[in-house]
Amino acid sequence: MPARTGRDYIEALNASRRDVLIHGERVTARVADHPAFRNLVRSYAALYDLQHEPELREVMTYPSPTTGERVGVQFLTPRTREDLERRRAMMKVWADYSCGMLGRTADYLNSAIMAMAAAADWFAQADPAFGENIRKYYEYIRENDLLLTHTLIHPQANRAAGPAGQKDPYLAARIVKHTDRGIVIRGARMLATLGPLTDEIMVFPSTLLKATPEDEPYSYAFAIPCDTPGLRFICRESFDYGRSGFDHPLGSRFDEIDAIVVFDDVLVPYERCFMIGHPELCNALYSETSATVFMTHQVMVKNLAKTEFILGLVSLLTDAIQIERFQHVQEKVAEIIIAREILAGLLRAAEVDARPNRWGIMAPKWEPLNAGRNWFPRVYQRFVEIIRQLGASGLMALPTEGDVFGPGRADVERYLQAAALDGIERVRLFRLAWDTAMSAFGSRQALYEYFFFGDPVRMAGALVNSYDRQPYMDHVRQFLARCAEEVDRMGAGTLPADAGAEVGTRPAAGA
Ligand SMILES: Cc1cc2nc3c(=O)[nH]c(=O)nc-3n(C[C@H](O)[C@H](O)[C@H](O)COP(=O)(O)OP(=O)(O)OC[C@H]3O[C@@H](n4cnc5c(N)ncnc54)[C@H](O)[C@@H]3O)c2cc1C
Repeated sequence: MPARTGRDYIEALNASRRDVLIHGERVTARVADHPAFRNLVRSYAALYDLQHEPELREVMTYPSPTTGERVGVQFLTPRTREDLERRRAMMKVWADYSCGMLGRTADYLNSAIMAMAAAADWFAQADPAFGENIRKYYEYIRENDLLLTHTLIHPQANRAAGPAGQKDPYLAARIVKHTDRGIVIRGARMLATLGPLTDEIMVFPSTLLKATPEDEPYSYAFAIPCDTPGLRFICRESFDYGRSGFDHPLGSRFDEIDAIVVFDDVLVPYERCFMIGHPELCNALYSETSATVFMTHQVMVKNLAKTEFILGLVSLLTDAIQIERFQHVQEKVAEIIIAREILAGLLRAAEVDARPNRWGIMAPKWEPLNAGRNWFPRVYQRFVEIIRQLGASGLMALPTEGDVFGPGRADVERYLQAAALDGIERVRLFRLAWDTAMSAFGSRQALYEYFFFGDPVRMAGALVNSYDRQPYMDHVRQFLARCAEEVDRMGAGTLPADAGAEVGTRPAAGA
């Protein structure tokens, strides 16, 4: 099947029978039509339809290497830097559509599977069948244009102990037995964003397993359809309250539900397993296969789109009520501009300095991407703060659609006008700012940006431990040696003769 349409996506969702709990209800059929999900599903469908817009066809799709039919560029295995740029252009179209608010668009995890398939030999070191399985799986999702979620984290019961150290040995999802058809999984994983509305779920290693026999049952990587018997999604409350797009411009379109995933003795066929056991390999899976690099490439594109949205939003807001002339306001807008330029620069640097990885595909340079993924979780919290500080009471003086277009209309037009906008347009703009920074949807976005890629504290630790700081340490050592040598030569308290010129206003020693 070539790149699918929105209708294909909705029909596939509605045709499958899955087990989804939400708001005290068990949804098993026609999940795409459920009131908590249907608006989000329509947004995802619109993304698939973009693949078929005549003017976007070249950007979004390419001929399948096996069938020649056009498939999504998110599956393209990059061999050149131009391929990476091509991937970025496609991902930007999707990210712009949701103003960067959707995190599980298919390009995120399909990029990971693409990289893993290219690194099939890495999986094969555990078992040649695993290498073959990941290769076939990549081809399968590419040719069927599937949407994936993933779940990596064990339930948050006792973080001082690993999965094997919990009171209940079946709390964290684990292998309970091997059958002649596959492995059987029992237990839970913490979170899968969009889980109930995807075709397949990747259940991949939680990192930092101990290479001990106790952690063996928690060591695996597989992917299964979301309607596999025994698989259950327990959703959080929906932030799409079924209200109008005027009242909740983001929440009514882009609330990607998050769900706990329960495995009630789920049979995972061997052909869907990419690793069983081998905790030490599980820990290295993302880095050794370059999956993290390609996921981060996608995330950076999404973050750029989101930052551009925030910049546009804040600029309209400051213009609307004419606060841009104040210096502290300019300083805050400047922060967003600088963030946009830094992200664009990091992304570009990663592509320009790309090199073939050990599996022979063109991989963006990791260090700029890693810097970006460590920085954005923090900077996004600042964006939210800026919107609140600049919007002030305007973020609360916000009647809803019923009043704006009903009995309150005359008052809205008169008292909620802004210098640059009429009352209705001003409410429309400020509701968007509120939904970005204040609503349940907005708060979830901030939490998402902080945590979804991992705990920033531990990511920072990983960055410090992996970054090659030796050249900079050597440079400082050389400088210290030079200083020591100068002190030896000229005596303590004396600067070299030309130092005054170098430092300009610095007084000469003894002055
Ligand atoms: C909105 C949202 C969507 C998400 N979607 C997905 C998804 O689709 N798929 C998925 O797999 N995951 C998803 N996640 C989970 C995400 O990967 C985790 O939130 C992240 O890895 C942190 O883990 P945790 O939430 O279990 O926090 P915890 O590990 O429980 O941490 C809680 C606090 O304790 C501290 N802490 C705990 N252990 C340590 C330690 N060893 N060292 C130092 N500090 C520690 C942390 O710094 C943090 O402050 C999502 C998260 C959010 C918030």
